[in-house]
Amino acid sequence: MSAALLAGPPAAGALLDEARTRAAQLPRRPELHVIRLGEDPASVSYVALKEKKALEVGLGGVVHALPETTTQAELLTLIERLNADPAVSGLLVQLPLPTGIDSSRVLNAVSPDKDVDGFHPVNVGRLWTGAPALPPCTPAGVIRLLDFYGVPLSGQRAVIVGRSNIVGKPLAALLLARDATVTIAHSRTRELAALTRQADVLIAAAGRPHFITPEMVRPGAVVVDVGISRVGTSAAGRARLAGDVHPDVAQVADALTPVPGGVGPMTVAQLMLNTVLAAERLQAGEVPQELADVPLP
Ligand code: NAD
Repeated sequence: MSAALLAGPPAAGALLDEARTRAAQLPRRPELHVIRLGEDPASVSYVALKEKKALEVGLGGVVHALPETTTQAELLTLIERLNADPAVSGLLVQLPLPTGIDSSRVLNAVSPDKDVDGFHPVNVGRLWTGAPALPPCTPAGVIRLLDFYGVPLSGQRAVIVGRSNIVGKPLAALLLARDATVTIAHSRTRELAALTRQADVLIAAAGRPHFITPEMVRPGAVVVDVGISRVGTSAAGRARLAGDVHPDVAQVADALTPVPGGVGPMTVAQLMLNTVLAAERLQAGEVPQELADVPLP
């Protein structure tokens, strides 16, 4: 029997619809601002995709395309200005940044309340303590994908392969918050297959093409493939992509996300929802003018 395919586009579509509906209910249109330095082709195309999706769900915003020669001080000044601008709901700095710029200094300068990538240490702390956070987009997108397909998480044994700050660790926090029993495996984990075989929900985020083989999967498990590796170029000159999960896993698992077309579309959709979430919180925190004008007794 072949695993059910948990396709990303319908789940991402539902997420985008939610972002569109919630954005339309706000007094002011949310704005997503993206700062990009230089002309790295991958960054240019990621930012263009974000801009396109923002337009699709009715968000405003600006791409601040700066020259590669922009100094760290100039970048920090722009971030400060956008942090202070009440029209800006979401602000992200596209990575990687040119050498000579301290990425963590720059990311930490973004206001945590506008940090729609969810990378700021304040958001990391909020995530782990259960306070309202802006969650990192890929892990939050994985949870949304599982919810869309009705995959239960409470009490389930989840094994995540990968412990990065942008995928593995925040995903562990989100799964814990959904009452899963969570194990994180990584490059130094011993007897990985024995561990992954215990998973009801197995999440692969190692960046190693086809490295999760059928012997590593419990029959009936749900397998989420976050990995995306470029493994060559097609005859048409397009990148050939592979996930972390070997295609034969489909013979063992109950359900499986494809690559491409699985988790990928969820990430950008979650970014749109995060922008709306940030706008909702920021706009709710504003004192309405008519109240601000009333003199205190
Ligand atoms: P990373 O390189 O920062 O982390 C990889 C993790 O995998 C590390 O924690 C490492 O310990 C673990 N690992 C590596 N080899 C291993 C092995 N043999 N056994 C067990 N663990 C091993 O990568 P990342 O940024 O977390 O990304 C992981 C993958 O997910 C990449 O393929 C990346 O392209 C993809 N990704 C996809 C999306 C998306 O939108 N779909 C978003 C982010 C990352």
